[in-house]
Amino acid sequence: MENQPYNQDEDFLDIILNVNKVLFATLDTKELLYLIVRKISEVIPVARCSIVHIDKDKNVGNILATYEDPALDTITIDLKKYPEIARSIIDDDMVFIGDVETDPTLSEVKDKIIGLGIKSIVIMPIRYYDGPKGSLYLRTSRRVDRFSKNDLKLCQVIIDGAAVALKNAHMFNIIREEKALLEKMAVTDDLTRLYNHRFFVRRLGEEFKRAKRYNSVISCSMIDIDNFKRINDTYGHQTGDKVLQDVAKILKKSVRETDMIARYGGEEFAVILPQTAREDALRSAERIRTAIRDFRFDCLEEGEMITVSIGVTTYPHPDIKNIDDIVRKADDGLYKAKEDGKDRVVSL
Ligand code: GH3
Ligand code: MG
Ligand code: MG
Repeated sequence: MENQPYNQDEDFLDIILNVNKVLFATLDTKELLYLIVRKISEVIPVARCSIVHIDKDKNVGNILATYEDPALDTITIDLKKYPEIARSIIDDDMVFIGDVETDPTLSEVKDKIIGLGIKSIVIMPIRYYDGPKGSLYLRTSRRVDRFSKNDLKLCQVIIDGAAVALKNAHMFNIIREEKALLEKMAVTDDLTRLYNHRFFVRRLGEEFKRAKRYNSVISCSMIDIDNFKRINDTYGHQTGDKVLQDVAKILKKSVRETDMIARYGGEEFAVILPQTAREDALRSAERIRTAIRDFRFDCLEEGEMITVSIGVTTYPHPDIKNIDDIVRKADDGLYKAKEDGKDRVVSL
């Protein structure tokens, strides 16, 4: 079943206005690709309409959208079966097959296409972004009769508008990805890929507020590597960096998914343990302490051990009114752990 043709007397401008309104209303590329084929199918009586992406390196085509199947997930096609697309790529221009039976481009595949009842085919490059990955083509065909000159003009106008809409969507996606990357960079520590000090403070503030509001508990640990200066002095700063990265990985593995680890600064790390009472926080700290102690650091000599001291605190606590108090308490515990001989956990 082909759609009803547009009324030749109807103002072309109305159609174009309507189509552009729809195409410029979304910045979602996948949705946009489908809207393009749908709108063309609605205003021109086509039997088939799809958008094909040609991967220049692999010389394959991927159908990204087709009117027949709104939910289509990319299908890869063999370009040998679509010589009209191949010609459009070579010519870098529109290909119009007025009559499938007589056009030499299709001589090899003619029978199959005629078998589908197709009379006429148009391929139009969609020139929106000719990046290293390839280009887009609209492929559409008619069954009953051929494309008229007006069909081709209308199709071209829609495609030109679609190219601008696609470019907008493309730019929007680039900006959105870069924004997400910048946001991630702003909260991430470069060396360890853990959250940084700034984000730790922000998150601690949020979690502390929540604990107060819901009358729940929250714990916090401060972890400091013992005698780290000696590691730097003995093995060099680069090896010191490698140890910090390894410690970060061990920490990630040692805590629960709901806990948050940050590099507090230098060779100091912090863990926020939401909804965690003192006993559980102590157990978590012990697990961290032993995991690091038992770890065999490839970058250090055999037998060389890394230990940490940990201060733990838990809210509610008579001395804790705000997040500075939490950090101070955990730090006091850490200081005491160092004083008592390092490689231990102290809870205050
Ligand atoms: P303590 O057991 O008392 O904690 O002794 P320590 O040697 O670990 O502590 P100290 O504060 O004296 O020294 C910390 C060292 O950590 C000194 C500093 O150069 C090193 N450090 C801080 N940040 C980095 C870093 O990003 N990379 C490397 N390699 N070393 C760092
Ligand atoms: Mg320190
Ligand atoms: Mg230290």
